[in-house]
Amino acid sequence: MSWEKNVRKVVPYVPGEQPKMNKIIKLNTNENPYPPAPGVQEAMKALTKTFGTLRLYPSPTCDMLIDALSEYYGIDKDKIFVGVGSDDVLDTAFLTFFDFKDKQSGNLLFPDITYSFYDVWASLYRIPYETVPVNDDLTINYRDFCKGNAGGIVIANPNAPTGIELPVKGAIEEIIKSNPDCVVIVDEAYADFGDETALSLIDRYDNLLVVRTYSKSRSMAGMRIGMAFGNPKLIKYMNDVKFSVNSYTMNIPALCYGVASLHDEEYFRTTVGKIVATRERSKEKFRKLGFSVTDSKTNFLFVSHPLKPATEIFAALRERGIIVRHFNNKRIDNYLRITIGTDAEMDELFAALEEIL
Ligand SMILES: *Cc1c(COP(=O)(O)O)cnc(C)c1O
Repeated sequence: MSWEKNVRKVVPYVPGEQPKMNKIIKLNTNENPYPPAPGVQEAMKALTKTFGTLRLYPSPTCDMLIDALSEYYGIDKDKIFVGVGSDDVLDTAFLTFFDFKDKQSGNLLFPDITYSFYDVWASLYRIPYETVPVNDDLTINYRDFCKGNAGGIVIANPNAPTGIELPVKGAIEEIIKSNPDCVVIVDEAYADFGDETALSLIDRYDNLLVVRTYSKSRSMAGMRIGMAFGNPKLIKYMNDVKFSVNSYTMNIPALCYGVASLHDEEYFRTTVGKIVATRERSKEKFRKLGFSVTDSKTNFLFVSHPLKPATEIFAALRERGIIVRHFNNKRIDNYLRITIGTDAEMDELFAALEEIL
């Protein structure tokens, strides 16, 4: 078609499948196996009583959620940005901070093995980028990001799909410190399951943006809530871009349930603690079955078997109704990424693996 020359052509991100079959064990998209906090259900009931307010636009500045996050994290409101999942927040950040104008600025850098959405946004916005190979053991060599010649940096910590965490002191902080002339995004989608966070550094480094999500640790992937923390100038620039695309990103239920989730700290700690305990138990179990397992600090494991190809294990599990994730990337195509489910779900997984291997 002659109009096709003017089409913005992109190779899209491929999300993990959401199968329609019932009675499956779904361990492929890092969803939380436990429901959201009970207070979220109360908020749902309350919202049905104010049904009529749906005719109104939501708050364009998302005040109630920003206020609640500010109180929860003890971070000033003007240092917080929220969006429709952290994918939306990251998308806005890429569009805002990586508009390279001159050839002086270096490329956007991120590891070759990481969240596979980063190169999609970079391509969508025509951002020159370079991937930095991780070590053979899949760890990130932070010094590769400390050369000070980057136009921007994105690091997931813990990294996905490896699950491996970098220390903030002496690694993440060095990256931020070595790159004062570009924005460094630290994607902490899984930080609640790990030991490290760069949140406390946002006041010290004006080039640091920390991104978080409700999708994993808060069991609310279906609500689409994500947030970013950074100095007020970074946040203002992101808001300028947001208000140039869509003022009303967050709908009324998302704002209400997002607030409600923060009010039940005990539930949050309990469910995160259960997942961490199941994860550690599962690591041992995988090792006993002969798998190599990275030291994941997330709600998933990244495993590889020396004798049985990952694609075969993937297919055999699928036949038994257990869905995990495989990536068609040469360096990691013999690995499977397996979300931590309930203890019962993991027991079914291990029973299936014992049959398959
Ligand atoms: C899941 C994930 C996201 C996106 O999460 P949202 O559901 O969009 O909040 C972002 N980064 C990483 C590394 C993830 O694993």
